[in-house]
Amino acid sequence: MFSTRRNFLKASAAASLTAPAIAMQGCVAASQSSPTPFKKIAIEEAFVTQDIADEWNKIIAAGSPGEPGFRKMGESILADNPGTQIIHQRLIDLGAGRIANMDASGIDMQLISITSPGVQVLEAELARDLAQDANNHLSAAVKAHPDRFAGMTAIAPQLPEAAALELERSVTTLGLKGAIINSHTNGEYLDDAKYWPIFEAANALKAPIYLHPRSPSEGMIEPYLDYGLYFAGWGFAVETSLHAMRLIMSGVFDQFPDLKIILGHMGEGIPFYLQRIDNRYLLQVKIGAVREMPRLPSEYFKDHFVITTSGVAQQSSLQLAYEELGADRILFAADYPYESVEEAVHFMDTADLNVVDKHKIYHGNAERMFDLG
Ligand code: MN
Repeated sequence: MFSTRRNFLKASAAASLTAPAIAMQGCVAASQSSPTPFKKIAIEEAFVTQDIADEWNKIIAAGSPGEPGFRKMGESILADNPGTQIIHQRLIDLGAGRIANMDASGIDMQLISITSPGVQVLEAELARDLAQDANNHLSAAVKAHPDRFAGMTAIAPQLPEAAALELERSVTTLGLKGAIINSHTNGEYLDDAKYWPIFEAANALKAPIYLHPRSPSEGMIEPYLDYGLYFAGWGFAVETSLHAMRLIMSGVFDQFPDLKIILGHMGEGIPFYLQRIDNRYLLQVKIGAVREMPRLPSEYFKDHFVITTSGVAQQSSLQLAYEELGADRILFAADYPYESVEEAVHFMDTADLNVVDKHKIYHGNAERMFDLG
């Protein structure tokens, strides 16, 4: 499906033909569960441009020596087979098919972002240019459907100054809301000061950064390549939680006090570990193994991070996050088109939370954080 532009044109036709069928499936599902009064804004919803998908295919086809995790993606979720075609069609579509799916699953608004790994696997100048194209494309879709779509900007961290300028352009002239960064770039993490122009811009614009997963970086991926462990069930969370912890421990948030980071997948496991992270940090400070920071790691986490429910339908995980972080720091997300939106909605509808907090998680926090009307 992603292999050539010609295939994409076929995919578009197929997508429009199947849209009513998708909607019908959704109506059946909706009629089986009782309707809820909650407005629903889903904030980790993916798309891709055909140009970026074409570049991915070139890398995968060439079998480039770098990016072993990305090549594994080329054998699975990005491969062209009957199981992945509907996902690829839905990623490309920023129009009727996407809205039909939202209608069928009861989603009022999607906050849309470039799917992982975005342009971060591409050569720097090409990445910068295709990110700009993707942002123009997404901005046009948002302007065509302002009550249904909002968007986050794609940036190329490979060129930090250009990425900062693109973030500024996207927020001030394209109407996009913050940036998505798909974890490491060429095995490097954003605590490296060379990337801080991006944080400087985000801090000044008060634009959140969604730190989205991808497969583990080259420095640690080897043991994850067996058994599918590099993928979303485990390796993505290890990679992304490490990235978040590097930001906390490096002092990024002392430098940029208004910087806000969003983590998906119920915080990539970090809420589960907060007490232990603090406890072992304090031991390391005591023995002189790490520098003492102005605040505890958990305090940086609570002050600078919010999490989303994307891809998690385990009530005990939600309850733990709720207890540790509170309802103001949890936002609803479905991870369309990779996860079942119906399951995500059912999960939140049936969560044992009070109505006020459920309104916050389903839409209120997103409206506040992204200034959504
Ligand atoms: Mn996602």
